[in-house]
Formats: sequence, C-alpha cells, structure tokens
Amino acid sequence: MSPTAVTTPLRDYRGRFAPSPSGPLHFGSLVAAVGSYLDAKANQGKWLVRIEDIDTTRVIKNADSDILNTLQAYALYWDESIIYQTQRLPLYQDITHSLLKQNLVYGCTCTRKKIKAIGGIYQGHCKALNHNTQSSALRLAQQHPTTQFNDLIQGNVEVDSALAHEDYLIKRSDGLFAYQLVVVVDDIDQGINRIVRGADLIEPTARQISLFKQLNSPVPEFAHLPLAVTKPGFKLSKQNYAPAISQQNPKPALVSAFKFLGLPVIADLIDLNIEQLIDWGIKNFSLKQVPQASEIQISQHPTS
Ligand code: GLU
Ligand code: ZN
Repeated sequence: MSPTAVTTPLRDYRGRFAPSPSGPLHFGSLVAAVGSYLDAKANQGKWLVRIEDIDTTRVIKNADSDILNTLQAYALYWDESIIYQTQRLPLYQDITHSLLKQNLVYGCTCTRKKIKAIGGIYQGHCKALNHNTQSSALRLAQQHPTTQFNDLIQGNVEVDSALAHEDYLIKRSDGLFAYQLVVVVDDIDQGINRIVRGADLIEPTARQISLFKQLNSPVPEFAHLPLAVTKPGFKLSKQNYAPAISQQNPKPALVSAFKFLGLPVIADLIDLNIEQLIDWGIKNFSLKQVPQASEIQISQHPTS
C-alpha cells in the first residue's frame, strides 16, 4: 500500500458564498466566490449564495442583483434559492429569545467609545446590571471560549485569549442583529459544513465557533483564503472603492483569480470559454495549492 495520504471528500458538502450587497463584486470578492465554488464542486458539493443584507445601513440599492448577474457572467451558478437575511428576522428573533430565556444573553449600554477606552475588548461591565433587554444592545454570555482552531489553509490558528472570552454583541444598540449572530444562524439553518472565505474573517471565526457550540450545532470546517491587497494591510474592499470586475469580459479576471488561488494556469486556457474555464478550474483545484498566507499583494489592475 502506498503511504500517500488519501483525502476523503467531505460527504454531502454544502458550501456558500455570502456577499454583503454594499457594492459590486471586485477582484477580492471574486477570489472568495471562485475559491468557495471550486472547492464545493471539486468535492461534488452544493454551493449556495446568501445575500448578507442584515446591516441595512451599508446596503446599496440594486447591488444584490448586480452581484448575482456578475456571478452568472462568471459561470458561478448557485444550487438552491438565494437567501436574504432581511427576510429572516423572525428566525434571528426566535434564537435570541431562546438565548434570553436561558439567561445566556444580557443587555449592555456601554458605548463603543467606552470600550475603545478600555482597550477595545468588552470586560463584562453590564453582566450583572440587569439592563432592559428590549431597548439595549445584547451580549452573549460566553460559555464556549475558542482559543484555537484548525483552518484548512492557514493551519492552526491561535486566538487572543481576551477576545476568545469576550461576551460579544449579538444585537446592536441600533436594534440591528449583529453579523456574528446571523451568519452562524444562517450557516446552521442552511446546513453549511465547509466555509471557504477571505482571511479578513479569521478573527471573527473564533466567536462563530463558540456560537455553533452554544447552539448545539456541529462546527463546519473553515478554509480562509489569502486576501488580495494593494499594499500590506490594505485589502481591496467595497469601502475603498476597489474597481468592479467586468461582466462583459470575465475571462481575464477569472484567470487572475485562478492564479491567485494557486491553480496551475497554462497558456491554452485562453482558448476556452467561460464555462469551460470553470470546468477546468474544478478539475484542477485543490485547497492544498492555495498559498498559506493571510494576504497577497496584487497590482492595481489584477486583470491586466
Ligand atoms: N458578508 C460577509 C462579507 O461580505 C462575508 C461573511 C462570510 O463569508 O461569513 O464580508
Ligand atoms: Zn455594557
């Protein structure tokens, strides 16, 4: 018998891409879309798309349909109906109620400024103060601090202990449910068992793992892709107006995303159409080829 390790594909793989509709897709979000898609399809899995519009203050009108059109232009087709978080508030409300009933959630009136002044990590100030839970922000009483986890690309990730133990916000003072809560509730509800996304979300992963445990759900596998940056520490993002990727001419950006993800791109690819390119990507993708880096510097115009 060969001693070579055989990797067993995840059974009934369910992955997802979860863009926030705060602007058009840029090269950084394309990398997350392509990476999550190829990994799902290389494992005969399902790939779901969820529009993360919970933070309505950041939503840009029609960005959702623009993102979906772009995904289709890149032949990234989703397997089940699209979910919008703003249509699922009763679900988040139910989970919050049940945590409240178990005394696992409490009201907090600390301002962001106050928490910043004590070093950025909330220290439990309001835990015993019995604030009104209707009108104040809500924090989860942390029962499952996660101090390290395994990432399929980044390896063993150590988490700052104070961060791991923090009673973090699940509902904001403006009444909106926090990303940390809804992302986990949705991943559980959609049966997601592997999450492939950008390394900017490594830090929140520890909090999310705690919440999967708190909600008695299996913790998915995580694979955090390197972030595309224009200079160290500067990720491409909708907030810093990273250019939108082309819907009319998707091949150059797709091939650049393949290269970024460590695929063995060859010259002949240029003759393939977009569907054939994606098929080639599925056949040739492996998480093992993805560079184990939290960021990779690209030129301003990664598609040229
Ligand atoms: N909606 C998040 C974003 O666009 C991604 C969340 C996730 O993949 O867990 O940054
Ligand atoms: Zn407080």
